[in-house]
Amino acid sequence: MSDDHKPQPASASAGDGHDGAGGRFGEDTRVVHVGRDPFANHGIVNPPVHHASTVLFPTLEAMVAAAADPTRGVYYGRYGTPITHALEDAYASLAGGRRGVALASGKTALMAVLAAFTRAGDHVVLLDNVYEPTRALADQFLGRYGVDVTYADPMLGADIATLFRPNTRLLMLEAPGSLTFEVPDLPAMIAAARTAGVRTALDNSWATPLYLKPLAMGVDVVMEAGTKYLVGHSDAMLGVLSATDDAFPFIRKAASEIGAPPGPDDCYLALRGLRTLSVRMARHQETGLTLARHLAGHDMVSRVLHPALPDCPGHDAFLRDFKGASGLFAIELVRPDDRPVPRARIAAMVDDMVLFKMGFSWGGFESLVLPVDPRRARTATRSNWEDRGPLLRIHAGLEDPADLIADLDAGLARYAAAG
Ligand SMILES: *Cc1c(COP(=O)(O)O)cnc(C)c1O
Repeated sequence: MSDDHKPQPASASAGDGHDGAGGRFGEDTRVVHVGRDPFANHGIVNPPVHHASTVLFPTLEAMVAAAADPTRGVYYGRYGTPITHALEDAYASLAGGRRGVALASGKTALMAVLAAFTRAGDHVVLLDNVYEPTRALADQFLGRYGVDVTYADPMLGADIATLFRPNTRLLMLEAPGSLTFEVPDLPAMIAAARTAGVRTALDNSWATPLYLKPLAMGVDVVMEAGTKYLVGHSDAMLGVLSATDDAFPFIRKAASEIGAPPGPDDCYLALRGLRTLSVRMARHQETGLTLARHLAGHDMVSRVLHPALPDCPGHDAFLRDFKGASGLFAIELVRPDDRPVPRARIAAMVDDMVLFKMGFSWGGFESLVLPVDPRRARTATRSNWEDRGPLLRIHAGLEDPADLIADLDAGLARYAAAG
């Protein structure tokens, strides 16, 4: 029988980082080379896309052999095809784990994290500024299955330990926080969790593995919405995870139980997006900082919540722990009449923006603006967000920064003029 039918390890390639040889390459080199093997594919630079549900086995022996690990070979479409494994290996390599998992969306990846480590009677702690659908999963989904949830002030640091109970299984982190961008003291929280025997997982969608390496900081699981910067072109949904060797089997099992693989074309788009991730991130960072600094000096802006600027809670932790910033941040607008700002005034600004359009998600090449209200999704720190001016989330895209500044200035002038 030919070896072709046995489960094959995903191919190692230049910069893979799994085979020892990859370790000598710099990160920009690995971004370009991980997860592809042209000479196993007729010399074609990008990997092939297989559309598959049924996978045929020539013999019973081959079928039994493939069943030994359905997530490594090609066994049945739901467990992935070669391009799924290529993406999983590429993400793991950059995240600093040995293996990865790709799922149909970022939310599915969050679901896998929560499902992997909890059962009825357990308790989990989440930072109060996690992505709102993460809260929904914890409160509504886990809640229905008898898991207790506590939300923590993201600035608690080592005092997070005061929230742990004997049945606490998981601390769910996100850095910086969604909408409000506080940067937690990750090393202090991770150490407190480790001491208490609590697993940690971190949503790294904002920084990507290029700007934060949570596994190296001691978290058990890292995930990100590949939908955002990894895909990078606003045209596919994807979630990716990696983990320590110890935690990985739990994640792999939960992912298989959930059974929501990404489509092969979406894996292809994510791998293609990955090749330019480093240059895109550098530009998102540079333009984001240019806009943030400009807005910090604008008289209609009361606060800029950008981790790289000093007004942002946790700015020092950002400088200590992150290698860079992405293009997503928030601004708080002044209240011109010292009263809650009517929707019409915000509409006057955002409805007529030329380049900054409104829409969910971010991480694509285009700039976005989104009015947000963190009070909807805060319980431990809601009072921080009472009686404040309107909050706008801004994604700095890849356009000419001067054009973006002109669009924002014109919008803020409409905001100031509207009654
Ligand atoms: C968008 C997002 C997700 C969810 O990703 P989807 O692919 O939209 O399901 C998870 N975490 C964060 C921080 C996000 O911004």
